[in-house]
Amino acid sequence: MSDTFKAILVSRDAEKKQSVEIVDLSDADLMEGDVTVAVEATTVNYKDGLAITGKAPVVRRWPLVPGIDFAGTVISSSHADWRKGDRVILNGWGVGETHYGAYAGRARVNGDWLVPLPDGMIPHDAMAVGTAGYTAMLAVMALERHGIVPDRGPVVVTGAAGGVGSVAISILSTLGYHVIASTGRNAESPYLIDLGAAEVISRDELSQPAKPLAKERWAGGIDSVGTHTLANVLSMTSYGGAIAACGLAGGMDLPTSVAPFILRGVSLLGIDSVMAPKPVRLEAWRRIGADLDLRKLSTLSRSIGFDGIIGAARDIVDGKIRGRVVVDM
Ligand code: NDP
Repeated sequence: MSDTFKAILVSRDAEKKQSVEIVDLSDADLMEGDVTVAVEATTVNYKDGLAITGKAPVVRRWPLVPGIDFAGTVISSSHADWRKGDRVILNGWGVGETHYGAYAGRARVNGDWLVPLPDGMIPHDAMAVGTAGYTAMLAVMALERHGIVPDRGPVVVTGAAGGVGSVAISILSTLGYHVIASTGRNAESPYLIDLGAAEVISRDELSQPAKPLAKERWAGGIDSVGTHTLANVLSMTSYGGAIAACGLAGGMDLPTSVAPFILRGVSLLGIDSVMAPKPVRLEAWRRIGADLDLRKLSTLSRSIGFDGIIGAARDIVDGKIRGRVVVDM
């Protein structure tokens, strides 16, 4: 095995101007940790796009190897849970934000951050799911805990053609929900129906300032857009329903009123994947193995090589990526 490996490094100069380059690193350059992993597959998430373009302050340690998730094989370990040859997944924990991340041939991390690759999955599949898909599963689990089962009525998924949205539609439809997909890309309707959406609506229906309450349209939903979209989704949620909020692709604000909460008993469920405790992660990945039709992964993902990461990062913040992008290292 070569002593050096390729990595993407983001740096900042004295004027805080950000740049990105491809460099050669060795094990000695990696940060502290008790497990070293050969990264076999990674992906480009929205947050990775923000980190590489510098559009939002995701990177909080300079210089940094970005990349918030990977799947691969343990090369060496002094952690009790992991041995050489184990196949693992990492999502979050500040990797790709404050700790050297996935966009390198190898990663050295804290073994507590790793979960096993589910049986029957290869690293490529796990990254077709990626942090976006694992977050979608966390959102589905939150809806279930709130009693939003298929019999309660339709569920809406916003940012439908994106990564979280595409996996959310796939999981929800496999579980028997009537899924209403909201997209700004009407040309993607056949794709969304192929994933399992029962109806496709235009993003425009949800993007204007929301009324406190509007006609009840769904029992639940998964929102990765935020701002007016989330406000409209809440105002259209039926009595006792719940919306899982996991993203801010449209904006970070939430211009709503308390009306949906106090007049319809609607709940807003917050979803965080980065610091989710290990038992929750293990359950989410178990459920992904059980409830996501792996055949849909080829519909919702495409593969690129290491050299395509920077271009894909720019495209995802411009809203040009459909579904998931897997990086085969
Ligand atoms: P993607 O870029 O793949 O998808 C986001 C989708 O949102 C786009 O495809 C588009 O869908 C829609 N969208 C983009 N811009 C706008 C806009 N201005 N107004 C309305 N809709 C818009 O990103 P991901 O799916 O990977 O992530 C989605 C969000 O979830 C991000 O904000 C990300 O940071 C967040 N996230 C949060 C996590 C957590 O732990 N809470 C974990 C993972 C992601 P369409 O074209 O169909 O309208």
